[in-house]
Amino acid sequence: MRRFVAAFLLSLVTFLGASAQTPHSIAIRAGKLIDGKSEKPIENALIVIEGDTIKSVTPSGKAPSGMETIDLSKATVLAGFIDAHTHVMLNGDITSEEYDTQLLKESIPYRAILGARNADIALLHGFTTLRDVETEGAMFADVDVKMAIARGEVPGPRMQVATRAMAPTGMYPLLGYSWELKVPTGVQSVDGVDGARKAVREQAMYGADWIKYYSDRRYHFEGDVLHSMVNFTDEEARAIVDEAHRLGKKVAAHAIGSDGIAAALRAGVDTIEHGDGLTDALMDEMAKKGVYWVPTITVGVYVAPGRGGNWPKMADLQRENFPKAIKKGVKIALGTDAGGFDWKVLNEAKEFEYYVQYGMTPMQAIRAGTSVPAELLGWSDKLGTVEAGKWADIVAVSGDPLKDITELQRVVFVMKGGTVYKNDVK
Ligand SMILES: [Zn+2]
Repeated sequence: MRRFVAAFLLSLVTFLGASAQTPHSIAIRAGKLIDGKSEKPIENALIVIEGDTIKSVTPSGKAPSGMETIDLSKATVLAGFIDAHTHVMLNGDITSEEYDTQLLKESIPYRAILGARNADIALLHGFTTLRDVETEGAMFADVDVKMAIARGEVPGPRMQVATRAMAPTGMYPLLGYSWELKVPTGVQSVDGVDGARKAVREQAMYGADWIKYYSDRRYHFEGDVLHSMVNFTDEEARAIVDEAHRLGKKVAAHAIGSDGIAAALRAGVDTIEHGDGLTDALMDEMAKKGVYWVPTITVGVYVAPGRGGNWPKMADLQRENFPKAIKKGVKIALGTDAGGFDWKVLNEAKEFEYYVQYGMTPMQAIRAGTSVPAELLGWSDKLGTVEAGKWADIVAVSGDPLKDITELQRVVFVMKGGTVYKNDVK
């Protein structure tokens, strides 16, 4: 009897030891691999994954005998996509009525449930990582969505989040309601240098990975130049950026008009969001300082007809600026502003298509949506390419995206951290 117990304990120890020491291994046979690093695709690559990490990538290699293998030999395999500008808490805001309704008639818990749903939509479209740049009145609930995903409670992409974002009092909706009513605001109202530092500290305390602020509003053309009203004084904007950087957080500025972009660059931000009104001089400055441009073309084109006014001309201006920015070496990271359009209506991978239409090669566009935003997020060592040592965030499409970039809108396989979330490969 004693011997039996000893043997049982020994086998139990061996079993526990084995399961703790040897994470699950799996191999992917890729017909074509666009690893995000090589100039050309690698034919018949073998990717070996251990746990949540890529162990090895070998051209024409053989899977170790007995290892579970996923056959993607008829597909093109790429690194998981990254959308550097989303709003999971928002579901379309072409008109101010659509926006106001969400803030006034939907509770934050309800919006968070839809936020988790939207994150899952992104994941199934191949976006294994998002930078979500403000909750639009849903306070800090993006931190909760991020946490539920990170803990494996619900499916979704990896996330870096900005929580509430900032604008001075009276410069961001909801606006136009009777002063007798207390209505929610889409951002945190922030005034003065001390107020700016305090707001950064508070957002960081509740889990902001990024600080986002609104550099401008009221966009108008004078000749061909898109101008805007700048929201914060230079002292306030500098205080936001300085305090964020002091706490190890990076700063994203919504900046559409040339004045707003110039003010954000003076303040020292890390990324310019939208950037419709870029001029040659501003592009030169961004290239010199290494500030990223997140153009969000998908939303610009989508909302322009419904909004009218200057919006169609602003979308045209982006199209003119895009090839200039490429030529000047501005770092362009893919961002869509999903949430600014309904997540159920458009696939965020549409953004890749615009980049190619506007002057990138398909390979440049793929990098703009993988390795470049990985660098923007400070996760280059873990994301953005299919290489040994990186997280196993891997997607596949049936056709060749180097010939037809719209293939990226038809992702058939999604793996995040070694777990398969979608496999429609026939
Ligand atoms: Zn946005």
